[in-house]
Amino acid sequence: MSYVGPDFDSPQPRRPRRGPLTVALAALVPGALIGWFVYEAVASPGGDSGSAAAHSSATASGAPASPTGTASNDDKPPNPSPLKGKVVVIDPGHNITNFQHTAEINRKVDIGTNWKECDTTGTSTNAGYSEAQFTMDVSHRLRTLLEQQGVTVKLTHDGDSPAWGPCVDQRAKIGNDAHADAAISIHADGAAAGDRGFHVILPASVHAGSADTRAIVGPSALLGRGIKTDYLRATGEQLSNYVGDGTGLVTREDLGGLNLSTVPKVFIECGNMRDSNDAALLTNSAWRQKAAQGISEGIVSFLRG
Ligand code: ZN
Repeated sequence: MSYVGPDFDSPQPRRPRRGPLTVALAALVPGALIGWFVYEAVASPGGDSGSAAAHSSATASGAPASPTGTASNDDKPPNPSPLKGKVVVIDPGHNITNFQHTAEINRKVDIGTNWKECDTTGTSTNAGYSEAQFTMDVSHRLRTLLEQQGVTVKLTHDGDSPAWGPCVDQRAKIGNDAHADAAISIHADGAAAGDRGFHVILPASVHAGSADTRAIVGPSALLGRGIKTDYLRATGEQLSNYVGDGTGLVTREDLGGLNLSTVPKVFIECGNMRDSNDAALLTNSAWRQKAAQGISEGIVSFLRG
């Protein structure tokens, strides 16, 4: 993870133009010096979290703080976005009304390595909060956060249209057709009670039938590791204690959404809906905002390179 970069502090140390207007120069120099001191203070080594906090505060206010007042910012965009033009496809896992369309979602589709159901209903908490509700909520929050960074966001579906699916092969195709710079499928798991924590699923190197992930394995791993780190910090949720050997990362070759992707893509299982401790987090809207924040930060870091 690297938040220390020229994207948020580069405007600060610019030099005033030299010219005949010495009066204007005299007025600018103190301001530039103060700006430089602010730059030095903010950019000093302080660890990842400190830098991230500084970054967040700078972008939240629309522009780096300027002790010289607002006049110097009037003639340039307040928050130039280096992510304009970047495309992220968010795939909310399952569909809230899949359970009403079992025939359609049970139809088998080709995922390269084998044939699998078009889609599944997903899981739910013991109290009945469905995975599809969870994934849609987090996806909406994530979309908002990414759009605030200037990213163009597309969802594979938005709950009501279509009424089921889309099928996993179609979910991958939507990311491919959008030429997404990154794609993520949001899920929550349905493991046994006592199984806790989250994990990020990376594509295995697959070259079979219509699946060829060889070009995306590397960048997807980079994307997934970044999301894992930022999600862990943002949510306080633990790494999975039941898959991934404590790494929070799992590589799979049996998911159509990954096998058929030609763009960097990962899945995240945000927690285990069947565990009461995890369910308490997953059903909490403030926590879901943290989840979206962590995922967003991981994606943004990846997009910035
Ligand atoms: Zn799922």
